[in-house]
Amino acid sequence: MKILVLNAGSSSLKYALYETSPEAAKADTDKLLGEGMVERVTTMTGALKTAFKDLRPLLQGEIIAGVGHRVVHGGTFPGAMVIDAAVERAIDELSALAPLHNPRSLAAYRAAREHEPNATHVAVFDTAFHQTLPRHAYAYAIPPRYLDDKKVRRYGFHGISHRSVALRFARLQRKPVEALRIISCHLGNGCSVCAVDRGHSIDTSMGFTPLEGLVMGARSGDMDASALLYLITHEHEDPAALLTMLNNESGMKAISGLSNDMRDILSAADSGNARARFAVDAFCYRAKKFIGAYMAAMNGADALIFTAGIGENSAAIRAGIATGLDQLGISVDPALNDLKSTVARCVGSSQIPVWVVPTEEQLLIARDTMTCIVAQSAHSG
Ligand code: AMP
Repeated sequence: MKILVLNAGSSSLKYALYETSPEAAKADTDKLLGEGMVERVTTMTGALKTAFKDLRPLLQGEIIAGVGHRVVHGGTFPGAMVIDAAVERAIDELSALAPLHNPRSLAAYRAAREHEPNATHVAVFDTAFHQTLPRHAYAYAIPPRYLDDKKVRRYGFHGISHRSVALRFARLQRKPVEALRIISCHLGNGCSVCAVDRGHSIDTSMGFTPLEGLVMGARSGDMDASALLYLITHEHEDPAALLTMLNNESGMKAISGLSNDMRDILSAADSGNARARFAVDAFCYRAKKFIGAYMAAMNGADALIFTAGIGENSAAIRAGIATGLDQLGISVDPALNDLKSTVARCVGSSQIPVWVVPTEEQLLIARDTMTCIVAQSAHSG
């Protein structure tokens, strides 16, 4: 069946068309028929029109059976959901926790529903994979009423990506994912590390929102909450402005004073810019600490995997993170690591092998959508 995947960003709409089925997903033979991106989106309806114009010839007269929507915050939904009125309302309510992302996904869904009213629309959440976190990993150490009444807890994000690389790595190893302990590092504009213990996420570095954890392009990552309260109460800083500062003006952009793009920072560091070098060191150091933590969480690991823009493309960052982890059984091989490639590959055959595995979020969204459609028709049939 033909599945359209939509991924609405802050000002862009990525789309992809897949041909998939339960058999094709199992055999890994599903096909990407076409993909593209509309940038500088003003209205989702307009963006979708462009996408459909591009994709229509690829449909060859067939209908779109399902539309898979990437949704960043799915609260406690444990998996992909067919979007009905209740799910739509839940995504809307969760916009308070993901104000940059959820409203865009909803706008894309509403425009796509208009365009494809007969297709099954499915929400695939970035949070769902982390619903297997045990309470000791997702609960903040604050009075439980904040969790139970106000839902203040760790949710985790990038779940589609972490699940995708864990499954791909297991397939490449010809082992069931249930036999592997994987540390997955998604390093892109947003960054997170995940401990995937025998197929289940048991801990991850992002928390209540995608702000917690690693140093990112423009996000601070971990920070003592009382420092912010100090700025609000003693320095009369505006809470909303602080949130913008932490999400948009911090991280590598703030430390380097240059840019949120790792390529600019690495080239400045190579030319002797001390602030850029300091930013790279801070980035690698924070990532390394989480890798150590997740080795402790899983009593070891069977693989360390890098993915996303930085993880897949930057040999320097992978080497920087792995430096000094040899006593833990992790090191990269300079020749393998420096090799330029776009396919999954081993970059360090240390005791714990180090791999680069390109993330396949769109493929996973297509498969989850197809699975929901199959389950729905089995249920109604
Ligand atoms: P993503 O969010 O996965 O699209 O990743 C985007 C980020 O990947 C960009 O902001 C860049 O900083 C980074 N990136 C892409 N290519 C490279 C590269 N060759 N070296 C270092 N960083 C890169």
